[in-house]
Amino acid sequence: MNIENNGFYGDFGGAFIPEMLYHNVNELKENYLKIIESESFKKEFSNLLKDYVGRPTPLYFAKRLSEKYNTNVFLKREDLNHTGAHKINNTVGQILVAKKMNKKRIIAETGAGQHGVATATVCALMGLECIVYMGEVDIKRQAPNVARMKMLGAEVRPAISGSKTLKDATNEAIRDWIANPVDTYYLIGSVVGPHPYPDMVARFQSIISEEMKLQLQEKTGRDYPDRIIACIGGGSNAAGAFYHYLENEKVELIAVEADGLGIATGETAATTQVGSEGIIHGSKTLLMQNEEGQITEPYSISAGLDYPGVGPLHAHLFKSGRGIFLGATDQEALDAAYELTKLEGIIPALESAHALAALHKIDFKADENVVVNLSGRGDKDMETYIRRLQ
Ligand SMILES: *Cc1c(COP(=O)(O)O)cnc(C)c1O
Repeated sequence: MNIENNGFYGDFGGAFIPEMLYHNVNELKENYLKIIESESFKKEFSNLLKDYVGRPTPLYFAKRLSEKYNTNVFLKREDLNHTGAHKINNTVGQILVAKKMNKKRIIAETGAGQHGVATATVCALMGLECIVYMGEVDIKRQAPNVARMKMLGAEVRPAISGSKTLKDATNEAIRDWIANPVDTYYLIGSVVGPHPYPDMVARFQSIISEEMKLQLQEKTGRDYPDRIIACIGGGSNAAGAFYHYLENEKVELIAVEADGLGIATGETAATTQVGSEGIIHGSKTLLMQNEEGQITEPYSISAGLDYPGVGPLHAHLFKSGRGIFLGATDQEALDAAYELTKLEGIIPALESAHALAALHKIDFKADENVVVNLSGRGDKDMETYIRRLQ
């Protein structure tokens, strides 16, 4: 994938970090490619993906959904992974990198708690200490995930500054990393953060499109689809689903952001629509900010899309026009979740339901092959679904 060049995707990316972080980020930058391209890493990673995560995930031809939209819809079933979403692909990869770098202590930040759970899971698997920073407000909102992290042996530390949400937890994690440069590994959960994180996370998630190529070849006689649709918070499941098709212009790449209550209301997480260029989490990208450059609070019914930026790859796909960016509101996502459940017997995560909601917004030809990346399962969203029962 040469769309990435030394940490930059077009105008976006890089490592805009305080000097005190330079040593840590540079140590990772100097080592990550050597590690992940080594034979021993590749073997361990693929064994764990197979036997622990449960890969390959199926590419399922959704017959009734296809009839409804009069085209061929395939679902890439990331919801069937261990812990219920694509996030585990990345945490398994990074925990192996941390081990090879002799790190003993893992830190992470989490908003909804899903990345925290995926991190606590691999720390338990490897017997490593795990500290997860989480905004005090989010700790209250996401009690079941907090309980999971604790059962898995992680310490959940509340971030009590600012709005007490994800960006404050990120600040705490960065502070911790600066204070503990030798033994600590900072495990980031999406294609965000300073270089090399966006590139490294995209590589770990690229297993999604790697499998898709083989599965499409087998099912359709061609290793690429006409369109791929994925929801986008930070952008890691989309990056993984797009990865091996970034340079194949025959494939339309569609990213779906959370419009929340609607872009006009301001209660939204649709970064490419309401955001502008700036620096967040050490990366130059698109983000939601006020006139003073302070990050503004995003909103979405789905906690995993409630992020005030997009990774630099996606900022580039948006600006260059290579990617098509659509949005789905809370209500559209709920409708799409109920539709998938009723037509296919699959309850999707609210995040993934945003990708499904885009099916309504596209004019398909009858013989097209469309892959929707079903990033996660809906168990964690049952309370919301029941409250809004249709
Ligand atoms: C976290 C999450 C997302 C959003 O994160 P990306 O990095 O944009 O993929 C999407 N779907 C599910 C199920 C998630 O848990």
